[in-house]
Amino acid sequence: MANIQEIFGSKVFNEEVWAQKLPKPVYKSLKMTIDEGQPISKEVANAVAHAMKEWAIEQGCTHYTHWFQPMTGITAEKHDSFINIGKDGKAILEFSGKELIKGEPDASSFPSGGIRATFEARGYTAWDPTSYAFAKDGTLYIPTAFCSYTGEVLDKKTPLLRSMERLSDEAVKVLHLLGKTDVKKVATTVGAEQEYFLVDKEQYEKRKDLIFAGRTLFGAKAPKGQELEDHYFGTIKPRIAKFMAEVDEELWKLGVFAKTKHNEVAPAQHELAPIFATANLAVDQNQLTMIILKQVAERHGLVCLLHEKPFAGINGSGKHNNWSISTNTGENLLSPGKKPYENVQFLLFLAAVLKAVDDYQDLLRLAVASAGNDHRLGANEAPPAIISAFIGAELGAVVESIINETDFVSEGRKTFELGAAVLPEFRKDTTDRNRTSPFAFTGNKFEFRMLGSALNIACPNIMLNTTVAESLAQFAAKLEGADDVIKAAKAIIKEELTAHQRIIFNGNNYAAEWVTEAESRGLLNMRTSPEAFVCYTADKNVALFEKHKIFTKEELAAREEILLENYNKSLNIEALTMLDMAKKDILPAVFSYIGKITKTTAAVKALGDNINVDTQLSLIETFSKLLACLSKKIDTLDAALVDAAQYEDDSKALANFYVSTIIPAMGELRAVADELEINTAAKYWPMPSYGDLLFRI
Ligand code: ADP
Ligand code: MG
Repeated sequence: MANIQEIFGSKVFNEEVWAQKLPKPVYKSLKMTIDEGQPISKEVANAVAHAMKEWAIEQGCTHYTHWFQPMTGITAEKHDSFINIGKDGKAILEFSGKELIKGEPDASSFPSGGIRATFEARGYTAWDPTSYAFAKDGTLYIPTAFCSYTGEVLDKKTPLLRSMERLSDEAVKVLHLLGKTDVKKVATTVGAEQEYFLVDKEQYEKRKDLIFAGRTLFGAKAPKGQELEDHYFGTIKPRIAKFMAEVDEELWKLGVFAKTKHNEVAPAQHELAPIFATANLAVDQNQLTMIILKQVAERHGLVCLLHEKPFAGINGSGKHNNWSISTNTGENLLSPGKKPYENVQFLLFLAAVLKAVDDYQDLLRLAVASAGNDHRLGANEAPPAIISAFIGAELGAVVESIINETDFVSEGRKTFELGAAVLPEFRKDTTDRNRTSPFAFTGNKFEFRMLGSALNIACPNIMLNTTVAESLAQFAAKLEGADDVIKAAKAIIKEELTAHQRIIFNGNNYAAEWVTEAESRGLLNMRTSPEAFVCYTADKNVALFEKHKIFTKEELAAREEILLENYNKSLNIEALTMLDMAKKDILPAVFSYIGKITKTTAAVKALGDNINVDTQLSLIETFSKLLACLSKKIDTLDAALVDAAQYEDDSKALANFYVSTIIPAMGELRAVADELEINTAAKYWPMPSYGDLLFRI
């Protein structure tokens, strides 16, 4: 058993290590950079680089890498060794401040959405001193931001950092106006709960769809699914428990406060949640968590699936982005306190968030859009594609009384009676949970629940930070001119809550009636990702991002293009994989099986005309029909892919074609193949079944 306190952060170049390894003035200067955003001098950079190298070598590192988050959605790393040629021709180990601060990876092979031509290959990575460097697998990882030679942002980190600063500036402005002049900075805090599946590696290797697409593209339902609700919070099997223990240990060493682990709703599905951190750290740590989950799984003969919908018919995997804002003086701005009704500051920030969510529903929807997540949203396992906010009964009553100018009578926080004297009494939370809401207030934070499991959480947080910054900027402008600030704040609260009441929905988001009701409220419902992607360049959104200097119009267009391209490419891979599996594996397998039946039927018949072979013949007939159907569906999908080529130069049109034509064709091909699977003898079926994958670990 690991001694948590001993191993925690042991692979992180954190403040404790700085204090040990850095000369005092260097340490102070680095702290100033982080706390107050002061630039780093060459001398300081050199000293930090030297200390980093010494520490990394102690950790067994031979290489360093600028670790960045390009628009692929995953992280990128290029490893350089510390090695250099010394005066006498011998090897020496070096690492300069210049190498720490700036890297120059070839940017041409990362998605840029047309911002750069391939010949303009140069890109820069820039050290992000606010996220700690760490040692992993013999390499020193340095978190960095990534941009092009001409300065366009090519990553997810830079806009995130910008959005955090914007939110901080505007929140501080509002707090100062409310009289809290001691607040200097406001941080976005994020805790990302991560869901994932585990499958046996040997089984995985036998499924091309899992290998190429990360999800099963075929597969008849197993006799058992999640209907007994016996997996959620169920006893963790020993093999999985060992895996989870090792994941925890690795994450703790890397300074991630892995906190909660449990079995999820679907068989073979699990969840891991850390303690929240500042948004940019949380983003890095969530990326690291996904990497560690995958790495450790391999060591246990398992494969970790992070796809949003690895299996049809059972829940897919999501990620809950718990989000709040807190001051450098330690106050959570979304904490309602004992009397939310009288808490002007809280209500003002609540109004800012609700306004942001309503004004920019499209951006929140867009932030969670992907080909994979389209399988979840609105499928009664995840919130619908409609954005709304849950605030719970008590807060709901507060909001209503403000809007209607009626008295609010608090029921107070009820004490919970558990009915058995030995159990402790505890105070009930002011909000119940609403697992169906896309954006739920959970006591002192909002939980954005629409994210897919594979998503880099930077984008949703960029959206939340920027849009809330915009609300606050508008509020600050109004408060600035006011004689009586509190009175003005109350007026803003009433006005905004009234204007944005439609975004509040405390009911069941999975119900069909909500779709109709949301429509009558004028809320957006973008069912597919391509519909959402194109909102990046809507005029109001361009204006927002340019105002807050998060993205330029060109950068937004590039991001939209990257998302569309990624969507199209993912679906193309899926379609090609299906055709490959159908033609090379499924058809031949069924042919062998029919061949076998035909042969035995003939042999039986040869024994004498009086033996009845009707069963065999009807089986052969069933298979022949299904095969003809399969072959037709293969042809249809093949032809659709040929048709798609005409939209090669228009990613929007191509995405729409995938939605209208290719996805349905894939669905039809799958349906026939799954029917064949149900009827074919198991030993002939060319790949592990859902039952094998989900229940045999
Ligand atoms: P629940 O069980 O309701 O989902 P938890 O308290 O277990 O809530 O928290 C879930 C996640 O939310 C955890 O990762 C936790 O660290 C995070 N969290 C808690 N408080 C905050 C906060 N103020 N800001 C951001 N995340 C938070
Ligand atoms: Mg939760």
